[in-house]
Amino acid sequence: MALSRSARWGALATAAASFLVIAASSAPTPGADGIGDAYFPQLGNGGFDARHYDLALAYDPGTDRLDGRTTITARATQSLSSFDLDLQKLEVSRVEVDGRKAQFTRTGDEIRITPRGAIRKGRTFEVSVTYGGVPEPLSGPIVFGSAYGWMKTADGVFVACEPNAASTWFPSSDHPSDKAAYDIRIKAPRGLTAVSNGRLVSTYDKGASTYTHWRETKPMATYLATATIGKFDVRTGTTPGGTPIYVAIDPVLANSNSVDVYAVTAAATDYWSKVFGPYPFEETGAIVDDMPQAGFSLEVQSKPAYSAVRSESTIVHELAHQWFGDSVSVAHWKDIWLNEGFATYAQWLWAEHQGTRSAHDSFLAGYNARPAGNAFWQTAVGDPQRDTMFASAVYQRGAMTLQVLRERIGDKAFFALLPAWTRLHRYGNAETGDFIRLAEKVSGRQLDDLFQTWLFTPGKPSL
Ligand SMILES: [Zn+2]
Repeated sequence: MALSRSARWGALATAAASFLVIAASSAPTPGADGIGDAYFPQLGNGGFDARHYDLALAYDPGTDRLDGRTTITARATQSLSSFDLDLQKLEVSRVEVDGRKAQFTRTGDEIRITPRGAIRKGRTFEVSVTYGGVPEPLSGPIVFGSAYGWMKTADGVFVACEPNAASTWFPSSDHPSDKAAYDIRIKAPRGLTAVSNGRLVSTYDKGASTYTHWRETKPMATYLATATIGKFDVRTGTTPGGTPIYVAIDPVLANSNSVDVYAVTAAATDYWSKVFGPYPFEETGAIVDDMPQAGFSLEVQSKPAYSAVRSESTIVHELAHQWFGDSVSVAHWKDIWLNEGFATYAQWLWAEHQGTRSAHDSFLAGYNARPAGNAFWQTAVGDPQRDTMFASAVYQRGAMTLQVLRERIGDKAFFALLPAWTRLHRYGNAETGDFIRLAEKVSGRQLDDLFQTWLFTPGKPSL
């Protein structure tokens, strides 16, 4: 066993012990203000499991003001005297629990809500928060473009929130380990298109406004939610493999469109469905907006969001995330290589599939390009630290790890492992140790040394 794994078992035993203490006492207690993520201690909340979000949003691009009412259906996992939600900056005017007005206080990015009566463990309850203000995007110190979150554009807003910006536009348990289904209703000025997750339920004009309702029925992490608004040319259809597709492109980008986003999205969705297992969501697609300051793309669930027209390679990366990141989500942010290493490896697989370069050659090119003294090799990909969680090593060395694994266990086991992984953890959460155990099980090999070297040991591994 690798050291990192025994450390995890120790943490698990401690967690189990504290759970027993809570279970033994029936007195209601406050839910924890965080879910226990080492990188983001206050994100997510303890004491309940969010099952469904209903977001009712009204956005005015003229003033940048957002008014919202979020209703969360949740199940209490302990008897609660009070509980927290995450919300950054925006003003809260009213909170209700099961339709009755509840007291609340604000501390930093936390709303602490005290219902009139305690909530018994196991009970399902509804909390509604009415709020509003001008959402502010986040910037630094995390390496992820110059800003992210709710970003104003020339004609609306571009919304891409990894890892911690969902709570800049709706109150939530803002951590990928608490996934839920969503209904997202958006009121915007007439003539604009509002694009969100899942499938379009309805859209209609009334007076000076357009009302649009989207529904995501599959569990979704908060950071994968979007409510991107603006002028869009929309094309819908079905991929040759039978998945509904919705592609929205900002018309100002029409002439710079050297990549056929619709065709590549359809082809990659179908190809990944063969390699990684059935497509996990009800619709595929793309949101291509004109937001040059963002400088990144995000694997928004069911419709990746691109802040400009991106390359074919970027599109196949974001679509691979629908399996690796969106359906199978990280349990902790330190497991981020399970998203980025896999989506980067998918780019190598795509080049191999296109016949332009084998994954082995992509591996060698990246490996040989960086001498042993390069700082690149100092990142421990399996626990890259918060501010460097999107460092290039998480992507590239993560992908290299998968190629080394493939060459160790052979193509047959490797291409059985990928769909086994997406099937085993479909719509759930997983951590690095789960992947190592499954790789050992599927291949029948002992692989601790490989993962210890490639994920947890700084320095350039020898081949
Ligand atoms: Zn990615």
